[in-house]
Amino acid sequence: MATVIYGSEAAVELRQQMKERIQKLKEDGKRIPCLGVILVGNNPASQSYVKGKTKACDSIGMLAKEVDLPADITMDTLKAEIGKMNADPGIDGILLQLPLPKGLNENEAILTIDPKKDVDGLHPLNIGNFYLNEPCFVPCTPLGVMELLRRMNCEIEGKTAVVVGRSKLVGTPVARLLQNANATVTICHSRTRNLKDICSKADILIAAIGEPRFFTADYVKEGAYVIDVGINHVVDGHLCGDLDFDSVEKKAAYITPVPKGVGPMTITMLLENTLKAYEGTV
Ligand code: NAP
Repeated sequence: MATVIYGSEAAVELRQQMKERIQKLKEDGKRIPCLGVILVGNNPASQSYVKGKTKACDSIGMLAKEVDLPADITMDTLKAEIGKMNADPGIDGILLQLPLPKGLNENEAILTIDPKKDVDGLHPLNIGNFYLNEPCFVPCTPLGVMELLRRMNCEIEGKTAVVVGRSKLVGTPVARLLQNANATVTICHSRTRNLKDICSKADILIAAIGEPRFFTADYVKEGAYVIDVGINHVVDGHLCGDLDFDSVEKKAAYITPVPKGVGPMTITMLLENTLKAYEGTV
């Protein structure tokens, strides 16, 4: 049976350390770090994600300044709001909750964010620096995946890693981080042939496709390190991941659950990136 590695437990530990760092700043009479959050429209999922993020800030004593904008705002108004946060020395990181409502150009909005405050790592300058191995903000979910592998005591160097999913926010940057850690990486996607065969040879398997319980034990090598990034809402209202957890758990050496796996790590890495922006340590 696999050892289950809970992101929720890692998150508690890491957030406690950040809370102590912020407490020390308070005691020293320094400014408190602040995450600026922009929510456009009233998409319930986005509202709930934003709530989770501002609550997480609060839990460690970090400030969160939320700006809620109506769905029908113009691109110019959105850019002006981002500009205000760029110019505000009291705001260290900017989180523009995606997706934006129809009619607003996400890439144009992201380009407006000051790269030094781009704690989601979405600005082209950060993306470019990431692929040049220069200092930059790295997207939060991939950072969370790497932290979970670390907590599995996974020695990545020399291992074969398969990342299923090639999105710019998850699959592609995860693959890059694994490659930088000297794994031999294969990226798979919806047009990959013989997916099961490729996955079942991987020492490290990262499932990031958004298909409920897609990966059964047949996709998994005996003793593999398996991370489930997927978040899927299934009919009974419960969340599940991309792994068929019950069968994979019997074959893998380490596995992450959904919920309580990668999700809490993503928010934790957002807090960490905001602290780095505050400290200027990126
Ligand atoms: P996305 O942009 O929709 O990308 C999905 C990727 O999976 C695409 O590259 C797609 O291939 C590939 N794919 C889809 N079905 C496939 C299949 N049957 N076989 C092989 N590849 C397949 O999604 P995303 O943003 O990367 O997110 C992936 C999952 O992670 C979602 O469930 C999302 O909710 C979750 N997520 C979780 C967190 C977290 O904090 N835990 C954060 C972000 C995302 P093509 O490129 O060929 O279309």
